[in-house]
This record gives sequence, structure tokens and C-alpha cells, in this order.
Amino acid sequence: MARLSSIKIHLNINIMRERIRNKFQELFATEGSVYASPGRINLIGEHTDYNGGFVFPGAIDKGMIAEIKPNGLDKVRAFSVDLNDYAEFGLKEEDAPKASWARYIFGVCREIIKRGGDVKGFDTVFAGDVPLGAGMSSSAALESTYAFALNDLYNLNIDKFELAKIGQSTEHNYCGVNCGIMDQFASVFGAKGSLIRLDCRSLEYKYFPFNPVGYKLVLLDSVVKHELASSAYNKRRQSCENAAAAIRRNHPEVEFLRDATMDMLDEVKNDISAEDYMRAEYVIGEVQRVLDVCDALEKGDYETVGQKMYETHYGMSKQYEVSCEELDYLNDIAKKCGVTGSRVMGGGFGGCTINLVKEEKYDAFIKEAFKSYTEKFGHEPKLYEVVISDGARKLA
Ligand code: ADP
Ligand code: MG
Repeated sequence: MARLSSIKIHLNINIMRERIRNKFQELFATEGSVYASPGRINLIGEHTDYNGGFVFPGAIDKGMIAEIKPNGLDKVRAFSVDLNDYAEFGLKEEDAPKASWARYIFGVCREIIKRGGDVKGFDTVFAGDVPLGAGMSSSAALESTYAFALNDLYNLNIDKFELAKIGQSTEHNYCGVNCGIMDQFASVFGAKGSLIRLDCRSLEYKYFPFNPVGYKLVLLDSVVKHELASSAYNKRRQSCENAAAAIRRNHPEVEFLRDATMDMLDEVKNDISAEDYMRAEYVIGEVQRVLDVCDALEKGDYETVGQKMYETHYGMSKQYEVSCEELDYLNDIAKKCGVTGSRVMGGGFGGCTINLVKEEKYDAFIKEAFKSYTEKFGHEPKLYEVVISDGARKLA
């Protein structure tokens, strides 16, 4: 089996579609329906989810595409084009396949069945072009492709939010990843030209226009992942809880840091550690920045959007301390090259920066980023241009 991370996947949807069609025909001698679902970016709103705040994702023009047809059997026969790997599995809890890619499909089937959906055996072939583990959520793209497809094929009438939750439960129960709802939500609800503000407490959401004419949105992947991530994450969460608990003594209505203001935080400055204070300062600022970016987008003010992205980077680097040398370096280059907005995307300690770049500055920025980064760190960053696109759908 080829290693997925070593495969260059960055393909046009039509090429992928032809590949899966050919393979489906070869394996099953018939034709099925075709579905697609995207990966996602998050423009702003990092470490806000577990503080009851907002995130602001959008679906991208990279995703998963799958052909699928019920086979009249009690088993699923699935082929991954990118891994050149085949798996067969039943639909009972004890039938879980070994291959990790197949567990995503199995998990989606199981989660639908647990909710009373009548899923039967099917044949499927799929491929994708979301870079793996780069922070664009290839796994959510995979889950929502199958959740959407099975819902449609078997007329299950599951609403879109539940489709996202089926993907999330798949990660929790079959893939060992205790994720929030943002990735699957964005993959299912995404819409071309829109970002979606999701309130992580109420799960209310609202679309905002994102049509940065004259700008490009580009991710620069540092290609590093520092090991600190999970213990640091737990410590950050604890700091947030400490600060919220201290504030709550004066203001009982504060359930999460999302409800707090800087004035409230200052009231308890002497009751909490300097570190907890700094972490809370970041979160309170970040919740507000998401709202500010939404206001700016309604006015088409991309300069303010960019400014807020830089502020988030500063906060993640200096207050929340979840950046790293490589990401700070990429952010500095962006600043030097006059990039409109740039920040670390995702939880931190590695992964990508997301950059909003004026078209006329784009080539010089990319050239400089590749040159300087490679000189300093001995390896190139990776580049992914993204366009905000539609969510899960059936292809005609
Ligand atoms: P990400 O941050 O991109 O979601 P994850 O580690 O959560 O990274 O998910 C990656 C996993 O999803 C892979 O190990 C594989 O099992 C599955 N996957 C993603 N893309 C593909 C693909 N194109 N083909 C087969 N499996 C895929
Ligand atoms: Mg994932």
C-alpha cells in the first residue's frame, strides 16, 4: 500500500471523477451516483470553540469525490484510488475494518444506523485532493461525502446538522479523534463565496460574503508538527477555565470566557496567575476579532480583515503561545512583503499560515517565502491556493 502522505494529490475534480469512474467500472462493471464534499479553512477564530465562542470557517475547492451504488449485499466493498487499497466490511459493530481510511466510511455507516437509518451494502470508489494533516480536514471531507451520499441514496431525511454530527461521532467513536464540530459543519454547510460564523455554544450560524476580488487566499505549510500540541492544548484549556471561574465569582452570568470582557478580566488580575491572565486576554480578544471580521466583510473591507488576521497571529504567538519559530518566520515574511493578512491557522505548533494577498504582491511574496524559509529551515514550505467553494453535494 502506498503511503498517502507521499502521494502528490492536488487534482482537478474532473480528473478525479474520471479516475473513479474508470475504477468503478473495472471493479463493479456498472455505474453509480457521484458525490463530493470539501475540506475547509478557518479564516479567524482559533481556540475559541472550547470557550463557547465563534469560529469562522469556509469550504474550499479541494475535497473528496466518491462514486457509490447499493449492491444488494450485506457488505460494503470500497476502493481508495489514492492509496490503491481495497476493503470489504459488514455493517455490524463487530465488522469494523482494519484500514484506517475504511474506518471513516464504516463509522459513518454505523453512526447512521445507530440513528435508525436503514443503510445496506454498497460499492464505492473514492479519491481526494485535500492535503492530509495540513489543517484542511481531509477526514471531514471523507466523512461528509459518505454521510451526504448515504442520506441521499437511501432517502433518510437526515438534516444537514445531523450529517455533520455523524461525521464528528465517526471521529470520536471509530477514529480516536476527539474533535469539535467545525470541520464537518463547514464541509456540509459550505457555500461558494461565503464564510460561516458558527457559534460554538448555541450552534447558531450565519453566512457572510467572502469575495475577495483582487486578492488570493493561500496557505503556506511549514511542514512541521511539534510534539507539544496535546499537552499544551490541555494546559491552555485549564487556564481558560481558571480565568472563567475567577470572573464568574463576580459575574455569575459568565459561563465561558466568551461571555467575559477585558474589564471583567482586569478585576481578577491579582487572583489568577500571569499566565492564565495572558491566555484569557487572547481568547477575549479573539472572540471579538471574529465579530470585527464579520462586520468588515459586510462592508467589503478586506484591509481590516487582514489587520485582524495579523492581530490573531500576534495573540497566538505572544499571548496564547501556540506558535513556533517556523510559523512566526512565515508571518514575518508576509508582513515584509506587504501581504494584507497572515496568521497561523489551526491549533498551532506547526501546520500552515493562512494569507490574504493582493494579486499584484502574490508572486513576489511566494518567491520570497520559498527562498527565505528554505534557507533558514533547510526545507521548502508547501503552497496551497484555496478558493471558497460549495459544501457536500451530488454531482450531476
Ligand atoms: P486531516 O487533518 O487532513 O483531517 P486526519 O489525520 O484527521 O488529517 O485524516 C487523515 C486520514 O483521512 C488519512 O489517514 C486517511 O485515513 C483518510 N484520508 C484522507 N484523505 C484521503 C484520501 N484521499 N484517500 C484515502 N483516505 C484518505
Ligand atoms: Mg482530520
